[in-house]
Amino acid sequence: VIIDAVDARGRRYLEVDAFPDGPLKEAFRNLTSPDPCVECGREVKHAFERYFQRNDATDGTEADNFHAAMSALTYDCVCGACGDKLLQEDAI
Ligand SMILES: [Zn+2]
Repeated sequence: VIIDAVDARGRRYLEVDAFPDGPLKEAFRNLTSPDPCVECGREVKHAFERYFQRNDATDGTEADNFHAAMSALTYDCVCGACGDKLLQEDAI
């Protein structure tokens, strides 16, 4: 399940679940290197655990199309625990 959420500072979070067991998940084991969480520095293993792809509020909305496209392609990796915490703050 992929959920789009926004935190208190307007940053967008795209939740990415761990993949179900199977060939695709196994492919990720070899293809991707872990990204550190931008909040806590813990390594996030794509396909093996839930995490968030975070974009700044302005991503994709700039008047400059090239910059907008580049921003949309890049994201900050946020682990599940940090993402949950940041999105929780939004609710308070
Ligand atoms: Zn984290």
